[in-house]
Amino acid sequence: MTEGKIEVIFAAAEVQPFSKVGGLGDVCGTLPEALARRGLSVTVLTPAYRNLDYQRWGIIKDRAHVIVQVVDQKYRIGISQWHNPYVANHKVVFLEHQELFGSRNVYTTDQGDPYPDNSRRFVVFQKAALAWMREQERPIDIVHCHDNHTALIPVYLKTTLADCHQFINMRSVLTLHNIAYQGLTGMEERALFDLPAELFYPLQPLEWYGRINPLKGGIVYADVVTTVSPTHAREIMEDEELSAGLRGVLKSRPVPVVGILNGVDYTYWNPETDQLIFKNYSQDTLSDKFENKTQLLRQIGLPAEYSTRPLIGIVSRLVEHKGIPLLLEAIPAILEAGYTLVVLGSGQAEYERALRRFQEQVPERIYYECGYNERFAHQIMAAADFFLMPSRFEPCGMTQLYALRYGTVPIVHKTGGLADTVQDWDGTRGTGFCFHPFSAEALNSAIRRAAAVYASPALDQLRRNGMVSDFSWEKSAHEYHRLYLQVMGKLDSEVKDG
Ligand code: ADP
Repeated sequence: MTEGKIEVIFAAAEVQPFSKVGGLGDVCGTLPEALARRGLSVTVLTPAYRNLDYQRWGIIKDRAHVIVQVVDQKYRIGISQWHNPYVANHKVVFLEHQELFGSRNVYTTDQGDPYPDNSRRFVVFQKAALAWMREQERPIDIVHCHDNHTALIPVYLKTTLADCHQFINMRSVLTLHNIAYQGLTGMEERALFDLPAELFYPLQPLEWYGRINPLKGGIVYADVVTTVSPTHAREIMEDEELSAGLRGVLKSRPVPVVGILNGVDYTYWNPETDQLIFKNYSQDTLSDKFENKTQLLRQIGLPAEYSTRPLIGIVSRLVEHKGIPLLLEAIPAILEAGYTLVVLGSGQAEYERALRRFQEQVPERIYYECGYNERFAHQIMAAADFFLMPSRFEPCGMTQLYALRYGTVPIVHKTGGLADTVQDWDGTRGTGFCFHPFSAEALNSAIRRAAAVYASPALDQLRRNGMVSDFSWEKSAHEYHRLYLQVMGKLDSEVKDG
């Protein structure tokens, strides 16, 4: 592909390593770098949240600021910048407001409750992002929005800012990382959005069963809508439930949703170099993976003799669509098949409580840590024999990709990105175990198949198949680059395959 000096803006609520709740943070942290390596110029706009360590990352305070007005309140938004020291043309611009962002987490309180003023927070963020973009001298070609927190940007661009000369040639891309989170809020908040009243009338772009749906607005107005795997793109165009009700809105677009698989940052998720695990290993030194298992069991106080039993790891947000109810139903069968189980994650209180209860009942076989713990996530990835993702739906999923590289065999529901990235083991080929339909019976059968392979010499072959599979960002970045050129109307003239 030709070197295009395309000017791209990412707008995102999470950007790893500065902030991360889930896969959105992973993608907005690493895809821009991969695009910049292709010669694009990528600036990521994101809020500066509590605990952002300016010194550690070398984030530099800008003297500039932008003013945003929402209803009758004016917000002075500070600006800071971080320049990627390794890749030119990749920077992150932090939009700062102490009360809305600087004193808070990304979406929820420490107790896990969504902030009641999230609509206001993300309207302010999006308006500030647009105000910042207006002030740039270099013309912006693409604004790439991610999920509901930035889905209003395409709405403003096609309505209140339609005549803004800076944006005339700019195109918008909206990526759906999770269509189930739509940013819904009550009609009484309408004034916050500062958009024409008719957009909120029944069946109009922002109206949703009497409420306001920012994601729907973004889907209606974005120039291109994408999601993070080809299978999930098909699923949400075909299945009402998997589209969380938005199938009709997606289908009314002139062009179908584009599915581009996420990639992995293998400089960070690599068992050969990972600084957070007990012992580094590769496919040639798989016995060192076992050392990670024994050390992890010691650290969490499970009996050392259990190191010969198969260990299942889970690192997940504990929410319904991650299949946690199915997991809870399957735990007796998991124990019966001889596994030990280590779970890291937080989320809905009922699931946290249920896991704690299981841990109390069988403390020598089940370990549960509630919370977010980057080091422990890596340690589980390296130590476990199997990585379980029983998601009801999964747009892409990052953790199964990490598990593959760590020789930790994924056991997954065959849906979305999981179906696109894990091939069912057939005795010689394949990288994991896929189950379908979404039922405890199907999951239990996969768990039994996995236990049988654990006890057989085929295990190392299966591990190695996963470790050599390649989900690096280059391929996905190439596809996004093509998409940008396409929406700019330049694909034919500028791109040769490459
Ligand atoms: P989602 O974005 O739906 O949460 P993904 O699999 O796409 O799911 O991405 C989840 C990301 O968040 C992965 O990088 C995973 O390692 C990380 N993660 C999830 N829960 C935790 C946790 N409790 N501690 C550390 N990392 C976590």
